[in-house]
Amino acid sequence: MNKVFFAGFLLIFICFVPEAPARPLRVFVSILPQKYFVEKIGGDLVDVAVMVEPGASPHTYEPKPKQMVALAKTNIYFAIGVPFETTWLEKIAATNPAMPVVHTEADIKKIPMKRHHHQGTELEQDHHGIKDPHVWLAPPLVMIQARNILQGLLKVDPAHGSVYEKNHSSFIKELIVLDAEIRGAFKGKGKGVEFMVFHPAWGYFAQAYGLEQVPIEIEGKQPKPAELQYLIQYAKERGIKVIFAQPQFSWQAAQAIAKSIDGQIVFVDPLAAEWDANLRQVAFRFKSALK
Ligand code: ZN
Repeated sequence: MNKVFFAGFLLIFICFVPEAPARPLRVFVSILPQKYFVEKIGGDLVDVAVMVEPGASPHTYEPKPKQMVALAKTNIYFAIGVPFETTWLEKIAATNPAMPVVHTEADIKKIPMKRHHHQGTELEQDHHGIKDPHVWLAPPLVMIQARNILQGLLKVDPAHGSVYEKNHSSFIKELIVLDAEIRGAFKGKGKGVEFMVFHPAWGYFAQAYGLEQVPIEIEGKQPKPAELQYLIQYAKERGIKVIFAQPQFSWQAAQAIAKSIDGQIVFVDPLAAEWDANLRQVAFRFKSALK
């Protein structure tokens, strides 16, 4: 009699208890650095999938059918305002109406995307109203994103609120340290130190640390020989010594300029998974190249 009662009790226990707290929250983000941010705050409580696969571009990405299916089982989506979202975010949200879509870039004052090109002999900065989407590359802006991620997690999983709050505070402390470190690295280098970069992903980094980025890419394309000559001339006149390039992408233009101006190529990846180590390395290499 007792055994039967116990078995019955066990069955009820198995049926009702394990559901909610056991499994990690299923989270989707747009780009790899966001996985780093969400895991900092969510820890073991989250299982983070990334939409833009490694090596793909957040400017042109098209979600895979498999990813669209996975969204149906996702608890929350953290967007960041990268260009592919313009076309896809509505469709992403439509796959799962119960899934909140959080705009982690909300509250960030975006700067216009600068585009240097030459007209006659003048270098112009052209705005065209396009806002720079690369908000994840400056620690002060990541603090704002961290806040929005925290709010999102609290909304879908309030039961673990104190854990998220605690992790969030630790992450903010880390960001403050990192920010101070990078700031220190460029202290005394003079305001407005210019660097060239193939794809202009480093505008907010430059803004945060008193630097100035000069894009090589012209309207998303490789510069033509005449434009390349112009950029070399510009770099010589302005004493530019550092060229940022991404190892995965074609960097012949960057190499040609670096050679002509006796400058250094600093390899940087705006989408690195190890976000903090990457930024530290970028700052360190940048600083070394300036000496
Ligand atoms: Zn970009």
